[in-house]
Amino acid sequence: MVENVIIIGSGPAGLSAAIYTAREGFSPLLIGGSISGGQLMLTTKVENMPGFPDGIDGPELIALMRKQAEKFGTRFVNEDVTDIELSSKPLKVKTADKEYETNTIIVATGANAKTLGIPSEQKFFGHGVSTCGTCDGPFFKNKNVIVVGGGDTAMEDSLFLTRFCTSVTIVHRRDKFKASKIMQDKVMANPKIKVIWNSEVVEIIGSDRVSGIRIKDQSGKISEMPIDGVFVAVGHSPNNKFLQGKLKLDELGYAVTHDEVLTDVEGVYVAGDNVDRYYRQAGTASSSGIKAALHVREYLQKMQ
Ligand code: NDP
Repeated sequence: MVENVIIIGSGPAGLSAAIYTAREGFSPLLIGGSISGGQLMLTTKVENMPGFPDGIDGPELIALMRKQAEKFGTRFVNEDVTDIELSSKPLKVKTADKEYETNTIIVATGANAKTLGIPSEQKFFGHGVSTCGTCDGPFFKNKNVIVVGGGDTAMEDSLFLTRFCTSVTIVHRRDKFKASKIMQDKVMANPKIKVIWNSEVVEIIGSDRVSGIRIKDQSGKISEMPIDGVFVAVGHSPNNKFLQGKLKLDELGYAVTHDEVLTDVEGVYVAGDNVDRYYRQAGTASSSGIKAALHVREYLQKMQ
């Protein structure tokens, strides 16, 4: 059997693509990974998703999208895709146990925020530790927070956080930022932002919420700093390893597309955070999945 469309990934991009292609009657097969749902499964309250004026928990939002996709006939497989074969038609998608044939593929495997890798970071995730300033900044009104990192995301998050927080302290492991000069200049000119150079966060402390951090400076000296929130902005990794050698990827591993979701291979589309190094929102991932679904419709209609 040759599928009409296989969607790889079960975050908002994949599920939105599933809702659209299923409703069009294409009976999509969604291969959602052994851990399904994407980054929203690690999120507590989402307050900026249009349509949810009281906010919604990330896992609940995913469950609703999944229900909507199922209602129109999406079939789900909870397995990890290990390989895809794009050099001949039908296209092939492989998991550990099975090989599927399909006319079109939407790759929506997302990205993961990189973390510091210290145990206390996981413990306080959603309880004072965040990897998304845009998502969680408004929860830290009149609080003192730190941002870890020295790239454009750290600069942008810090500037955004000054709109809510009493103080923002950037903790960076080197003596200069990696970020673009224009962003650095904005940060350095903002009186609410302080920088601690050449230092690493070695522990996050608190009981049920973050109350402070332990920082190690260049000399190895460890000191404690009271703080209400920790924003980790040390980069993202797109989940595109299995696309290496199959589709064009940029130097950071993001898929290279044209018109947002089109790849160099006809019938193959990439949507969501694995193509987007800038916006990284549930709503933008969803929108990108919908665009890919509309291209699938056009492609399949031409085939008929
Ligand atoms: P980057 O990879 O550019 O920067 C990551 C930063 O985190 C670096 O300063 C790095 O330190 C630091 N870092 C990495 N690992 C650790 C660690 N374990 N502990 C402490 N610090 C660590 O990621 P960004 O997310 O900032 O940016 C990704 C891309 O998106 C870039 O191309 C950026 O330009 C773009 N972007 C552009 C924006 C804009 O134009 N407004 C906004 C946001 C992103 P070190 O410097 O030592 O390597």
